[in-house]
Amino acid sequence: MSGKILVIGEVKDGALRNVSFEAIAAAKKINPDGEIVGLICGNGELTPLGEEMVQYGADRVVTVAHENLQNYTSEGYGQAVMAVIAEQAPDAIVMGHTAIGKDLTPKLASKLNTGLISDAVDIEVDGDQVQFVRPIYSGKAFEKKIITDGLTFFTIRPNNIASLEKDTSRTGDVGEKTVDVADIRTIIKDVVRKASEGVDLSEANVIVAGGRGVKSAEGFKPLYELAEVLGGAVGASRGACDAEYCDYSLQIGQTGKVVTPDLYIAVGISGAIQHLAGMSNSKVIVAINKDPEATIFHVADYGIVGDLFEIVPLLIEEIKKL
Ligand code: FAD
Repeated sequence: MSGKILVIGEVKDGALRNVSFEAIAAAKKINPDGEIVGLICGNGELTPLGEEMVQYGADRVVTVAHENLQNYTSEGYGQAVMAVIAEQAPDAIVMGHTAIGKDLTPKLASKLNTGLISDAVDIEVDGDQVQFVRPIYSGKAFEKKIITDGLTFFTIRPNNIASLEKDTSRTGDVGEKTVDVADIRTIIKDVVRKASEGVDLSEANVIVAGGRGVKSAEGFKPLYELAEVLGGAVGASRGACDAEYCDYSLQIGQTGKVVTPDLYIAVGISGAIQHLAGMSNSKVIVAINKDPEATIFHVADYGIVGDLFEIVPLLIEEIKKL
């Protein structure tokens, strides 16, 4: 494929999420000779973020700043992105398979009566043939999809397609487009967040996840310490969330977050199919469980059979020595 690909960047707390850069790499993969146009919606000064997209491989960037784009709403972002699509006439549009990507792309694809390939974890290019690899049946199998016709949206799962090296010497035009984002029926006035627990779970390279075997909220404390020494985030099974050991925002699995870190350490988690659906594509899986027959060992690269209350402190101690 060669042509123009629009990459929608995602801004969180004033910075671009990593998946925005991964989306540029995905676009480059399918369109090495074509043009990659970045798009950033938000409020205030967006030019530095546009320049960062260029440094990660975009040829140029369009920004749309409006007070109604301060926080994501599908109506507001929908209007802004539709206006840029009408002006830029891209051949494909890519963004992260994030909460925003999952909400926005089907809506716009249906408005434009066009296709959508969602949640790609890899892109295989063979000559002119581009195949999008995506997990199905909760990650038990993969299917490969091709585009057969016209404009297509596609979303990529965070942490799967490596972003290009940042090149601070790269330059490209970053221009603002004025869009009158009006008639929004829902406006988010303020977002009240829980106190941050550190690294964002969906973009973490290392996740230490606890299950019902951790036995209490108190039992999660060493897991936080292990995550901290590894520079990672803490996740949980639904068993642990249901037992009120931790917040549901940490839940990983079919009805929780889907994660693909470089390292996933499952602590006191049995490995129910619904949990595996959210983490089995992690690059390296380490399981700590006292039951040698636990299902989690079937997907683990490394298994430690033993009592987590002994093993986790030992791991922390050893890693601190490194
Ligand atoms: P358990 O299955 O109770 O396992 C606890 C493990 O800890 C055991 O293997 C035990 O050997 C080990 N253990 C105990 N003590 C120790 C110790 N001292 N040291 C070491 N190991 C120890 N689950 C999810 O996780 N995510 C989902 O998104 C999800 N969605 C679901 C959706 C549906 C529709 C349904 C029906 C279920 C869903 N579940 C989900 C629940 C899932 O089926 C399991 O019940 C849940 O994952 C079990 O959590 P667990 O592994 O922490 O607990």
